[in-house]
Amino acid sequence: RAIHMINLILFGPPGSGKGTQAIKLVEKYNLLHISTGDLFRYEMGNNTPLGLEAKSYIEKGQLVPDSVTIGMLKNKVDSNPDVSGYIFDGFPRTINQAEALDSLLAEKKLVIDKLLSLKVEDDEIVKRILHRGKTSGRADDNDASIIQNRINVYKQETSPVFDYYAKAGKSVLVEGMGDIDEIFERLNAEVHAI
Ligand code: ADP
Repeated sequence: RAIHMINLILFGPPGSGKGTQAIKLVEKYNLLHISTGDLFRYEMGNNTPLGLEAKSYIEKGQLVPDSVTIGMLKNKVDSNPDVSGYIFDGFPRTINQAEALDSLLAEKKLVIDKLLSLKVEDDEIVKRILHRGKTSGRADDNDASIIQNRINVYKQETSPVFDYYAKAGKSVLVEGMGDIDEIFERLNAEVHAI
């Protein structure tokens, strides 16, 4: 693989600050930010068939089926080959997605270098998402029971992805409480340790 290529997964529960930190990491390391949540919102905004399908799951706080999500992610990666690395945000969210990502990267002779998991308490998550909901216009950010469902899905289906990459020695837990720059410095320290 190219010496300077860095491929990261930014991981953690909904509302843990992945999007916020991804923007800062992209700026610093010149990576391509791929957020499956943002890709779905773009498709929904344009009322595409993919967007309409995704919407029926997202508005309930459920995961969009792997077949749809993996296809969309693969398109995005394939259409952006000349980058100095990728930062995956909100993907993979299932073991199946993690295996698909590893194969997709392997075909390109690439690997995930590190999974950075932001650790934030449940109460704080709910607070942050409801706060974001006031301005985000996201239906899934405005309803406490939908938010709770997203947290449950994270615990049941997504958190095993941490263990999956931990087996390869790639997962690190980073304290996600505190101010934005402080958290960014913790993430930087982990990127420098690659
Ligand atoms: P958050 O910032 O709360 O983690 P995202 O913007 O990443 O939320 O995702 C919003 C919604 O989009 C998720 O609740 C889920 O329904 C859907 N989604 C995003 N990424 C994936 C994925 N990798 N697999 C399945 N569904 C996804």
